[in-house]
Parts: sequence; structure tokens; C-alpha cells
Amino acid sequence: MPRQRQTSAEQQTRTRKPTPTFLLELPLQVTPGQAKRLRAHLEAARQFYNAILSEGQRRLLRMRADLAWQAARAIPRTQKLERQRAFGVLRQQYGFSEYALHDVAKGLNCAWIADHVDAVLAQTLASRAYRALNRVCLGQARRVRFKSRGRGLSSVENKRNDTGLRFVLQPPEGGNTGYLLWQDDRLEALIDWKDPVVTYSLRHPIKYARLLVRQASSARAQGADAQSQRYCVQLVLKGVPYHKPKHLVGQDTVGLDLGPSTIAIVPRKGTPRLEVFCAELAPDASAIRRLQRQMDRQRRASNTANYDERGRVKKGRLSWKHSKRYLATRQRKATRERTLAAHRKTLHGRLVHEIVAVGKTILTEKISYRAWQKQFGKSVGLRAPGMFLDMLKRTVARTGGTLVEVPTRSTRLSQFCHGCGQFIPKPLSQRWHQCPCGIGPIQRDLYSAFLAAYLDPADSLPSCAQQRYAACWEGREPGLQAAYEHAVQRASVGQHLPRSFGIPRVRARLPESPR
Ligand SMILES: [Zn+2]
Repeated sequence: MPRQRQTSAEQQTRTRKPTPTFLLELPLQVTPGQAKRLRAHLEAARQFYNAILSEGQRRLLRMRADLAWQAARAIPRTQKLERQRAFGVLRQQYGFSEYALHDVAKGLNCAWIADHVDAVLAQTLASRAYRALNRVCLGQARRVRFKSRGRGLSSVENKRNDTGLRFVLQPPEGGNTGYLLWQDDRLEALIDWKDPVVTYSLRHPIKYARLLVRQASSARAQGADAQSQRYCVQLVLKGVPYHKPKHLVGQDTVGLDLGPSTIAIVPRKGTPRLEVFCAELAPDASAIRRLQRQMDRQRRASNTANYDERGRVKKGRLSWKHSKRYLATRQRKATRERTLAAHRKTLHGRLVHEIVAVGKTILTEKISYRAWQKQFGKSVGLRAPGMFLDMLKRTVARTGGTLVEVPTRSTRLSQFCHGCGQFIPKPLSQRWHQCPCGIGPIQRDLYSAFLAAYLDPADSLPSCAQQRYAACWEGREPGLQAAYEHAVQRASVGQHLPRSFGIPRVRARLPESPR
């Protein structure tokens, strides 16, 4: 788990070099009695977490109210050491550090809570609260969120595998079974020994275990308890994850252009591709939209007094009635959303492996996904391109390749023309690159991906790669055109293509030239 800490001297001495880590998730077989006890433990852990968060928040607010805090903030960032020291003194004074919160946890973990939450678990909860608060402290988050009773705590973790919450694997002569032990309960894990991923992973040393609660579609779903929850254990293992033999690793260099809804993949040698990014998600998204509209109708039907004559929600504090059918629809929508997230992950994984199979040196423009979220909120929310790129980065690193994100501001691939070497800005609506120097017309995303593919990672200015562009363009252009034609053919089969593909509404009309 990545941790962001403001480095204070005390913490610097404690940081160790992290070893590679991967996860394995196993479902747990939980009896109704065990489920009840688990819920009680988790509820205690939730209240405990909130208590630490509240104490930490109090300390944070007091620290920020101090005049010395403003003084420390006024120190220019160039005087790094001095700034660090000033903040460090304040943190020490107000007891705002991970270890100070561990002490808080020690004091709070008494009476009935101690029956549910053991000491190490209390420490990890305190660390978790500290990480949330530290994000606020560093300006990376606006506020912390307390865990409500309704939502509860959906995971607890240990930090070692010898006391408290721990996973025990029995030797083959003992039956080859695995158990998660917590308090007096022994929860059996379902282990599929025929699954190569599971057998590979369980050969590795376990760092610690994490108990997860996952929502199922209903109480009648397989493995779900009376509250329609499933339990599983996530093992944090030392080593690198299993690499399936079917996933090949290519040697090519690949240029990527990731748009909010499209992806252009242009390798130096292989076949270029232009695709709708995660096209298969569209039906899921529209099903969710329909459920949302149904929920709205149901809410209106049972709360007529809350709407004015024009159908708008009245202002002020209102009380809302939730009908049984509304709640059922809400649950259906939540299930749909979970499936969509899982589906998206599958599609991302598939595409990642398809790209890595072509080449493991990947060049793409660095994009601010936060800015995208503002501009293309709906599409980015559905397809999660940032998450995809993170996954690609991880996989590429694991296979020994590199993913280079070139800075957008200096390279400006979408404006560059390799024919004349000039940067000519195009509005976002202009989806074609066509230059008076004779380059084009070529679809914009494909062209940027082509430009990215031949960049030199060390010096990422496109003008430095101009010789390579000139040498390859003749050979690559037909392939790029074919990729575009292929995408359009699929559109005529029935797949909806977004406007960013640049297909004119009437197919016969040719793209306009820039001017
Ligand atoms: Zn040109």
C-alpha cells in the first residue's frame, strides 16, 4: 500500500526498504453464528476507528490553529530543511504522528472494545486513521470521512501473521486446508488447488492477512449471510504475482494515445489499432441509468409532498420515505454497479495483456486525469482511463519493461506535424490531421500514437525524432489508415462509435482540411 508521509526525522529512521508484494483473495466459509460474531467485531472496530479519527482530527485542528503553523507555511519551499523542521516540531508538540496515534489507540482500546479488537489490529486502525488525516494535513484531501453504522467497516487488516487475525495453512498431511483465525473463530477458506494462481501464491510467505466484507446481490446469493454479505480473506504475500504462460511479452515499442473514450495503439512494427476504450461497458451503463430513473420515479411517488408544482425538490430540510420497492431497486442498482466495476477491471486487464504481448516499451503522453474528470466526467467515470494506465504501468514493470509518460506541455504531440516540423494547435473538435505539407488526412489519435511510438524516451521532443518519422511514415501510413477503416467497419456492424473518432455524420463527406 503506498503511504504518503511528511518525512520527519523520526519516521525517516524507521523506513525500511519494501519487499515486493502481491495479493491473493480466498472466499471464506462462514456459519451464521460466526457471521454474527464477525459483525460484532467489525462494529467494534468501526467505533474504535471513529474514536481515533476524532481524536486525530482534534489534534490536527489545534495544530493548524497555532500561529506557528502559519509561520511554518510561510517558509518558502526552497528552504526545504527549515520548513520540514518547523512542521516536525509542531507535529511533535500536538502529537500528530502515526506513533502518537498508536499511543491513543493503546489508551482507547479498553473495556468492551478490547474484547473485540486486539492490540495489533488497534495499531493498524490507528495507522489507517492517521493516513486519512495526513492527507488532509498535506492538502491532498479536504476532509476525512467517519465510517457510518450503515456502511460499516468493510475491511480490517493485521500487520503480521503470528498473532491476532492470521491465516494458517495446514500441511498436505493435515488436509491442505487453510483457516483465518480471529479471536476464537476459525474460518475455513475455500482453496482451489487446481487453480495455478492459488497454488503458486500459497507457496509464498504470508506477510499478513486482511479480512474483507463484500456485499452480495441478496441474502440468497451463494456464500452470503443474512445481511447479504460475503466474507473473504486477502493474503498479502511476499514476492511477485503469478504470470500465466498464455500472457506473452513482446519486444516492440508501442505508442499509446489514450482519450476519454478512445484508445489508439501504434507499435513500431506490428498492426496499429484504434478502438473505443472499453466499448463493452456501454450496455451496463445504460442499464444503471434505467434503474436510476426508476428509483427517481419511485421516490417521487412516495414523497409527493417534497416536490413543488414544477417537479423540483423543495428547499430546506425534508424527510424522505423509502418504499420497499425503492429499496429493492436501490439494491439492484448497487449490484449492477459492482458488476460494472468488475467488468471494467476484466476489460482493462485484457487490454493490458494485449498491449504487453506486442511490446513492453510503451510511450504515451502524461495526462491529468483529474482535469479530464472535469471535462469528460461521464466517460471518464465509466471507463476509468487512469486506473487502466496504472494497471498497465504495474504489468509492464513486472515484465521488465518500461512505460514512459512524456510531458504533454513540451511534446504537444497533438499539434505536431512531422512533415514540416511545425506545431499547429487544433481545436479538440478537429479529429483529423491534415497539413498543407502533404501529411494526412489521418485520424488525430492514431497520428499522435504514431508520433509517440517513435519518440526517444531520453529526449522526448518530437523534433528530435523527425528523421525516424520521415523514414517510417511511408511504410506506416497504410497500416494507420487500415486501423481507421477497421474501426469504422465495426461501427457499421452496430457498435456505437463516439464522435471523437471523427467519422462524419454522412459517410460520403470527406473530412474538412484544417484552415
Ligand atoms: Zn506539415
